[in-house]
Amino acid sequence: MRKQIAAANWKMNLTWAEGKKLLEDILAAGISLTENQLAVFGVPSPYLTLADAVVSGKKNYSIAAQNCYDKKSGAYTGEIAAGMLQSVGIKYCIIGHSERREYFNESNQMLAEKLNRCLESGITPIFCCGEALAIREAGTQNKFVETQLKESLFHLSAEQLKSIVIAYEPIWAIGTGKTASTEQAQEMHACVRSVLAAKYGAAVADEISILYGGSVKANNAKDLFSCPDVDGGLVGGASLVAADFITIIQSLK
Ligand code: PEP
Repeated sequence: MRKQIAAANWKMNLTWAEGKKLLEDILAAGISLTENQLAVFGVPSPYLTLADAVVSGKKNYSIAAQNCYDKKSGAYTGEIAAGMLQSVGIKYCIIGHSERREYFNESNQMLAEKLNRCLESGITPIFCCGEALAIREAGTQNKFVETQLKESLFHLSAEQLKSIVIAYEPIWAIGTGKTASTEQAQEMHACVRSVLAAKYGAAVADEISILYGGSVKANNAKDLFSCPDVDGGLVGGASLVAADFITIIQSLK
């Protein structure tokens, strides 16, 4: 049975004092997650080990990096290697967020390498895909996302694929307050799963958690997460408010 995941993406927000309080407030709600559920917090790099200490011992609460580099080590000033994340106990890493793709020119090919680095280091990547508004308006979103998946994931073995979480995030819905409808989300998630099934078989595709991201809020999470192929969410803005993210975690199937 695939995992249901509430993933927070703090982006470049919050001081550590603010972040720590946010985590503590969320943990204070005492939500006990089932074997099948996970809450993961994508925090800024300087907070990774500090945040990990706050959630340590809380079953199925975990910390994610927001990015890592596509090389193992070397003269890449300012970059963070997947192996470094592993060495301080971090188990998840967001890869290919649309903001990284747009502002830092991350290509599907580069992201394929980042996935390799994560998997070599035992880090579960949360791989983001999704189309811009113009592509959605042209009606070519399925083909566009299929290409993202093929170019970044299809070199992986079935075993490796099973270690990946996918987040479908339509760019037109990120930070805009314009959420995809449950029909739009379900349709694309089913499409992603069928693309994976065509390459790896239905049984493998069925094991992959596919999160929806794009203006997930406390008041729409339950509807979105109830879609059969939506296995939780990757959440930006609403993950910065304890009460909202608590509700979002409680909305997991
Ligand atoms: C995100 O940052 O991945 C995101 C989906 O942001 P928001 O929830 O604010 O739209």
